[in-house]
Amino acid sequence: MSIHIEENIKLAPFTTMRVGGNARFFARVKDVDDLNDAIIFAREKSLPIFILGGGSNTLVSGDGFSGLVIKIEIKGIVYKDNRVTASAGEMWDDVVRDTVARNLWGIENLSLVPGTVGGAVVQNIGAYGVEARETIFSVEAFDIEKSEIKTFSRDKCEFGYRGSIFKKNKNLIIVSATFELAQHGAPHTDYEDVKKYFEDNRISEPSLAEIRDAIVAIRVKKMPVPPIGTAGSFFKNPVVSAQKYESLKNEFPEIKAYPQGDNTYKLSSAWLIDHVGEWRGARRGDSGVHEKQALIIVNYGNASAEEILSLACEIKNDVKEKTGVTLEEEVVMM
Ligand SMILES: Cc1cc2nc3c(=O)[nH]c(=O)nc-3n(C[C@H](O)[C@H](O)[C@H](O)COP(=O)(O)OP(=O)(O)OC[C@H]3O[C@@H](n4cnc5c(N)ncnc54)[C@H](O)[C@@H]3O)c2cc1C
Repeated sequence: MSIHIEENIKLAPFTTMRVGGNARFFARVKDVDDLNDAIIFAREKSLPIFILGGGSNTLVSGDGFSGLVIKIEIKGIVYKDNRVTASAGEMWDDVVRDTVARNLWGIENLSLVPGTVGGAVVQNIGAYGVEARETIFSVEAFDIEKSEIKTFSRDKCEFGYRGSIFKKNKNLIIVSATFELAQHGAPHTDYEDVKKYFEDNRISEPSLAEIRDAIVAIRVKKMPVPPIGTAGSFFKNPVVSAQKYESLKNEFPEIKAYPQGDNTYKLSSAWLIDHVGEWRGARRGDSGVHEKQALIIVNYGNASAEEILSLACEIKNDVKEKTGVTLEEEVVMM
């Protein structure tokens, strides 16, 4: 076995939230052989496994993890015609930047989302009106039970709102994903902030590079880069029935919601937290709610995972009490 397994490694620096205890065992995996070795190590010691990408959507408990944390550092980007295959350990935004530089359309609205390609696929990341699943052609994943690589076409990935088969089935570890892009794509500029950016800058037919520039500018204005002390949106946007939406609208006429086309509405968690609960900018010691973005919980210094969770719990209870709506965490707990 060639893989180097480290012991008692502090996990906080491997996450953007910067909290959490130690991993009992920790392995940096550079290729599929490393991955296989790491899994054999865990199996021989009957250890639970946690797969870590960029740690930008993960909250590590103060107790850390008593098993093996496998950090995916598999690299490589390969182009074939309009398709790009990126290894799971590539940083997502490096891939976006590269595809934009090659004039390939499709993922530019997902510029600057932190984390790895693996994490982006697991979470089916979404931003500014676009989701990763729209361009994913196939995904290669290592099946821990069978010790083999399997290829999943897009329709087998069970993509949903911030989820996929890889989120549900912990036996599947993504090693690469192939994206089908376009040489002559159509810009997605309907999203409020994006539309405003182009109006303000008097650009009527933005090029691919201009769209990336717009998204980067909008994001940098809103969130810290690099994203230290946050894990992005802490909660998902809840989906409710049309009936529930109507009753909420009676009580909160300004409520922000998006019709889903199936008699349901996706409510803006940020709006609920901000306007119903008035949590934006609230502090509980070193943990708090971002001053500009109510959906983001921040570690302002030395907050513990437990303090962050306790604040999240307060917010959830408050929103539930005032609206009857249950917020569900987007962040993954380790
Ligand atoms: C400032 C900031 C802004 C953000 N903005 C957005 C946004 O606009 N849109 C959005 O959708 N998200 C956003 N996020 C959330 C986050 O960036 C994404 O969810 C990202 O895709 C997570 O990738 P990661 O590699 O960091 O995953 P990690 O946090 O390392 O892991 C997340 C989950 O994926 C699993 N996982 C990771 N890699 C693999 C793999 N190779 N195989 C199997 N499982 C794996 C982990 O076990 C865990 O369950 C933001 C986060 C931050 C901090």
